[in-house]
Amino acid sequence: NARFAGKSVLVTGAASGIGRAAAILFAEQGARVLAVDLTDGVEATAAAHPAITAMRGDAGNEGDVIAMIAAAIQTHGGIDVIFANAGISGGMAGIFDQSVEDWQALLQVNLIGPFLAIKHGAKAMLDAGTAGAIVCTASVAGLRAGAGGPAYSASKAGVINLVQTAAQQLSGSGIRVNAVCPGLIETGMTQSFYERARAKGKSDQLGQLNPLKRGGQPIEIATAVAFLASDEASYVNGHALVVDAGLSSS
Ligand code: NAD
Repeated sequence: NARFAGKSVLVTGAASGIGRAAAILFAEQGARVLAVDLTDGVEATAAAHPAITAMRGDAGNEGDVIAMIAAAIQTHGGIDVIFANAGISGGMAGIFDQSVEDWQALLQVNLIGPFLAIKHGAKAMLDAGTAGAIVCTASVAGLRAGAGGPAYSASKAGVINLVQTAAQQLSGSGIRVNAVCPGLIETGMTQSFYERARAKGKSDQLGQLNPLKRGGQPIEIATAVAFLASDEASYVNGHALVVDAGLSSS
C-alpha cells in the first residue's frame, strides 16, 4: 500500500499509543516519517519500521517545533503531513483542585502544541509551495463534559475550534487542517483505567459506555488519521472527525 509514497510525515507523541500506531501506519503506507516524543520510547517506534526516524522534542515548545519541522524537511526533503498528536491528560481533578499552573502546563502541550504545529508547519508548506494536510488530536472530551478533567476538556474543545479557524485562515493555500476526536482508546494515557477495571474483573465494562460495547485500540484512530491526511479526504477541511464507537452520540 503506497497511499503516502514520497510523502514526508511528522508525528508528535509518537512513542506510545495513538501516535506510535499512526507513525507505523504512515510508514507501512509508503511515507517517510519523523517520529517525535519527549521520551526514549520514540526510538522503539523507529525500530518498528525502517522508514521511521526518531527525534526527541517537546511539542509544546516553539523552538523544538521549529527544529522538528526543519529536521523533517532536511531528512525527508519536505513536509507534507503533520499529525500534531502529543497530549497529556492532567488527571480527573475537578475545578477546585486544579491550579493555574496545572492549566498552563496542560494547555502548553494540548492546545499551544497544535497551534505551533499549524503555525510553523503551514508556513513551511506555504514556503515550499506544496499543499499539505495537518491533523490534530482533539477528543470526545472536547465535545461533551465528563470524559476528562476541566483543563483537558477545555484544551480539546480549543483544538476543535483551532482547526476550524486555521482551515479558514489558510484559505486558498491548499493546506487542509482537521482534527480527530477519539473516544476511550487503550493507550499509555488510559492504562490506569484499564488496569483498575481488569483488577476488578470489569475490563469489559469500559466498553459498555458505547454502542459497540468495547474499548478502542490505537490503530482504530490511526486509520482515521491516515484518511484525513490522505488525498481521499481532499474535500474534508476544518472538520473534527469523531471516532468513538458512538460514545458521544448515545
Ligand atoms: P499516550 O500517553 O500513550 O501517548 C502520548 C505520547 O505523547 C507519549 O509518548 C508522551 O510521551 C508524548 N508527549 C506528551 N507530552 C509531550 C510533549 N510535550 N512533546 C512531545 N511528546 C509528548 O496517550 P495517547 O492516548 O496515545 O494520546 C495521544 C493523544 O490522543 C493525546 O492528545 C490525547 O489527549 C488524545 N486522546 C486520547 C484518548 C484515549 O482514550 N487514549 C482519547 C481522546 C484523545
